[in-house]
Amino acid sequence: MKAHDGMYIGGQWRPARGPDTIAVVNPADEQVIAHAPAGTADDVDDAVRAAREALPGWAATPPAERAARIAALRDVLVVRADEIAETVTAELGAPLQLSQTVHAGVPIMVAGSYAELAASYSFEERTGNSTVLLEPVGVVGAITPWNYPLHQIVAKVAPALAAGCTVVLKPAEDTPLTAQLFAEAVDEAGLPAGVFNLVTGLGPVAGQALAAHEDVDLVSFTGSTAVGRQIGATAGGAVKRVALELGGKSANVILPSADLARAVGVGIANVMSNSGQTCSAWTRMLVHKDQYDEAVALARAAVAKYVPGERIGPLVSAKQQQRVRGYIEKGVAEGARLVAGGPEAPRETGYYVSPTVFADVTPEMTIAQEEIFGPVVSLIKYEDEDDALRIANGTVYGLAGAVWAADEAEAVAFARRMDTGQVDINGGRFNPLAPFGGYKQSGVGRELGPHGLSEYLQTKSLQF
Ligand code: NAD
Repeated sequence: MKAHDGMYIGGQWRPARGPDTIAVVNPADEQVIAHAPAGTADDVDDAVRAAREALPGWAATPPAERAARIAALRDVLVVRADEIAETVTAELGAPLQLSQTVHAGVPIMVAGSYAELAASYSFEERTGNSTVLLEPVGVVGAITPWNYPLHQIVAKVAPALAAGCTVVLKPAEDTPLTAQLFAEAVDEAGLPAGVFNLVTGLGPVAGQALAAHEDVDLVSFTGSTAVGRQIGATAGGAVKRVALELGGKSANVILPSADLARAVGVGIANVMSNSGQTCSAWTRMLVHKDQYDEAVALARAAVAKYVPGERIGPLVSAKQQQRVRGYIEKGVAEGARLVAGGPEAPRETGYYVSPTVFADVTPEMTIAQEEIFGPVVSLIKYEDEDDALRIANGTVYGLAGAVWAADEAEAVAFARRMDTGQVDINGGRFNPLAPFGGYKQSGVGRELGPHGLSEYLQTKSLQF
C-alpha cells in the first residue's frame, strides 16, 4: 500500500520532525502493509500554526465559496471511491463491498450534505433589536477512531470547513492510510493551504499534544469514554470548547406487536456489520418473555449467515480481538448461555472473532453493561413495557437504539421515553442530516446536519 512518509501541513507534505513510524497491519492476514510517520508534539505545533495562519482568510471566505470547495472535495472522493474502499479494506479488514457502500459511500453523502448546508445555512439571525452573527469557533483539533476511518474524519472536517474553521486532524494509529488519502483529496480539491492539516501518530503522544495545545480553540474527539473523559478534563482546565462522541450500549427493543422475524434479523445484521465495531450498534436485544425462545431461534439462524472471512471481516487488531474474546469468556463465566459463536478464534490467521449470540443475559451482567465493540449480541428477556424501558435505560450510555412495534405510534411513544440520542423506528434508514450524538456518558455535542455545523460556530450579538 502506498503511504506518505510525511505530514500534510500548510498545503504540502513535509518530512516528519521525528524518526519514528507506525506499522500498518492488514487485520485479515496480519501482514505489515505500510508505515506511517508517528508525529510528535513538534509536528502538532507546526500544524496548529499553519491552521492558525490560514484561519482569518478561510473565516472571511464567503460561505458560497466554502461550499464550492467542499463540493469539490466531495467530487474528488467520488472519483477516488474505489481507492478509498481498497484502502479501508486493507487497514481495517472490512469486506470490500462494505467498504464500497459504507466506508466510501457514507462520507461522500456527508460531504455532499455539508456542501449544500454551507451554501444554504444562515450565518446571521435577527432577534428583537439584535443581529446575531454565527462565527467560526477557530482552530479545531480533530481526533478520530479507526472504526469508520473516513466517515469519522468527514463528520468533523466537513462541518468545520463549512463553518469557516481550520483543522488539524490526528487520525487513529490503526488506520492512517485512509487519512492520508483524505489529505490528498483536500489538496486536489484546491482548499487553501493550512485550512486542513494532518498529523499521524499515537494517541498519547500526538493526540494528547493536540488536545492540550493552547492555540486550539475546539477539540472534537471520537473514541473511547476513558480517553474522552481525559480530553474533556484537559479542555475544561483550559476553558476551551470540546465535543465528545464516545461509546454506546444501545438497546434494540422488540415490543410484542412487532414483526419478530424482521426485528431479530435486522437487529443481528446491525450488530454484525463492520464486525460489531460500531459505537451505535444495538448490542442488547430486548424481547418479551413470551417470544423469547422464538427470538433466540431466529437469532441463531440469522447469525449463521455471517461466515468469518466472507460476509464478516476480522476485528481491527490483535488487541481488539483479545478484548472481545475476553468479554465472551466473561459472559460465559457470569452464566449467560452461548447460542452461537464463542471465544475460540474461527480462523487461524487474521484477527477474527466468531459471530456470537448470548441468551439468558440479565441486565446487570458485564456483557450487558460494557461496550464490547465486536460481533456479540445479548438477548435479554423483559416482563412488560416498563421493565423493557428500565433495562433499555439501565446503562451509563445513551447513544442510539431501536424500537419495533406493529403500530408506528406505539414505537414512537416508547422511543420518547428512552434516554438516548438516536432511535430507529421499525428499521428506519440512515439520515445524514439527523443529529448524531449521545445522552449520558455517550458524549457531549452532536455531529451531522445543521446541528453538527452549529458545534463549530459561536455567536456574536449586535444590539441596535
Ligand atoms: P481510543 O479512545 O483509544 O482512540 C480514539 C482516538 O483517540 C485515536 O485517534 C487515538 O489515537 C486517540 N487517543 C488515544 N489516547 C489519547 C490521548 N491520551 N489523548 C489524545 N488522543 C488519544 O478509542 P479506539 O480504541 O480507537 O476506538 C474504540 C472506541 O471508540 C470505542 O469505545 C467506541 O465506542 C468509540 N467510538 C465512538 C464513536 C461515537 O461516535 N460515539 C465512534 C467510534 C468509536
